[in-house]
Amino acid sequence: MRAATFHSFGDSVHLEDIDDPRPAAEEVVVRVACCQIGGDIVKIMAGHGPVRDRERFAFPHTPGYRGAGVVHAVGAGVQTLSMGDRVVINGFLNCGECEFCVSGHDNLCRHSHMLGIDSGQPGAMAEFVKVPARAAYRIPDRVTFEQSTLLPNIALLVHAFRRAEIDSPFTCAVFGCGLVGTAAIAVAAALGATEIVGIDTAPAALELARACGATTTVDGGAEDAVAAVLAATEGQGVDVAVELVGLGETIADAARSTRTLGVTLLIGALGETTILFSDYYRDVVQREIQLRACFGKGQQDFVEAIRLVKSGALDLSPFPVRVHAFDEIADAIETARDPSNSDIHVVTF
Ligand SMILES: [Zn+2]
Repeated sequence: MRAATFHSFGDSVHLEDIDDPRPAAEEVVVRVACCQIGGDIVKIMAGHGPVRDRERFAFPHTPGYRGAGVVHAVGAGVQTLSMGDRVVINGFLNCGECEFCVSGHDNLCRHSHMLGIDSGQPGAMAEFVKVPARAAYRIPDRVTFEQSTLLPNIALLVHAFRRAEIDSPFTCAVFGCGLVGTAAIAVAAALGATEIVGIDTAPAALELARACGATTTVDGGAEDAVAAVLAATEGQGVDVAVELVGLGETIADAARSTRTLGVTLLIGALGETTILFSDYYRDVVQREIQLRACFGKGQQDFVEAIRLVKSGALDLSPFPVRVHAFDEIADAIETARDPSNSDIHVVTF
């Protein structure tokens, strides 16, 4: 089969033939229709970012963990999928057996791997990809393959709002309106948020935030974000503030924007956070703000994300998806690495 490969860390991408995958028990092979290229592809190819264990890389390496396509072959024992099913892949591969997996916290699996990063198998930037059957989810007819590559992000936010344990209707503020932030806005709207404040510094991000359901948008570079959130909520603050940047300043702003007894969801992790609440810690304590860290998504979050889309409660059409031909994958990677470009890039096969 044809696949995108790189032969060492720091190498550029190649298109070449590698062996077709064959499904083992409890696995399926998916004929890939498309695969999303995230901004992290450049870090992965350089051996940084999501790459936790460089030793698990076997070169030539085929990346890609956000793929979608049609079930092409089914291994022994697979009950949930059949050949011809349209599916999206959850690239976060859990073991299914550890104490977190068996207790419904499979997003925290002790033995997790990422498809196309450290799974020891070729990823989805190829004609075919092999995955455990439990990592492939049937998608609704109304969703295109390209749109379905957004479902992992939707599931991530479904998980985050589940962590908030909030009843609808509720009010919400989202700090950072990139791809994950706008997914947060779309999920908040689908779950019954009545007021959604989107904060970012990029005009295009704020425009997309409005298209996804933000009722108020705030230019965080020009305006006081906390004051704007308080103004939108009669001075109370929001029930749920979602922090997607991961910097001390924005975490503090998110907590200060949360109403007394409300929830601040911590999702952003730039890895540079060293100072939290330097001036606001007492305020956070005295108002019993609940800080809840959120990581990844589990199987039930994926199922709920698909249900929201299937029911029509969540519309994926506002998200700007740019499609690239597989032969032009090198150009697509260059385009996707530009941080000022907020489009979602997918390559098709
Ligand atoms: Zn596990």
